[in-house]
Amino acid sequence: VRGHLLITHTHWDHIQGFPFFAPVFAEGGEWDLYAPGGLGEGLEAVLSAQMQHPYFPVTLAQLAATIRYHNLVEGALTVGGVRVVAQYLNHPALTLGYRLEADGDPYFRKVPIVLLTAEAGAEKTQEGFAAGITDYLTKPFKAPFVRARVRAWLERVGADSDRGA
Ligand SMILES: [Zn+2]
Repeated sequence: VRGHLLITHTHWDHIQGFPFFAPVFAEGGEWDLYAPGGLGEGLEAVLSAQMQHPYFPVTLAQLAATIRYHNLVEGALTVGGVRVVAQYLNHPALTLGYRLEADGDPYFRKVPIVLLTAEAGAEKTQEGFAAGITDYLTKPFKAPFVRARVRAWLERVGADSDRGA
């Protein structure tokens, strides 16, 4: 499996799931990880620190997949054929928000967008759907529920979820 992960910032609630992300243990996998850099340690050092032996039995370097780390600043880049515009956000850590633009590619028109957020309420939900999302899930949610939801959307639209391979 080949994929891209856009990380807004490295507070624990945004990175603690990474060591349990099964695809990075798979031989032959290729992952590009993006996070804000430029201040302090880069993404690889931060992820590696949370996987030191006292905290986790597998180190970052032992993961079987090929992982590339991209320390970002504000600006635009292309990720898997999608234009990504990164912009700093107001948060008590170096944080980037990402705007994904793929209007010109017909493939991406049928890829479902599931927004996972802490922002509940009718107004926020309406804003999300107005911005073009397919589904809206608010915290707290459990991983099996999210997987089932995403799988259902992918089956519904007939999207090939492994297009990047
Ligand atoms: Zn945070």
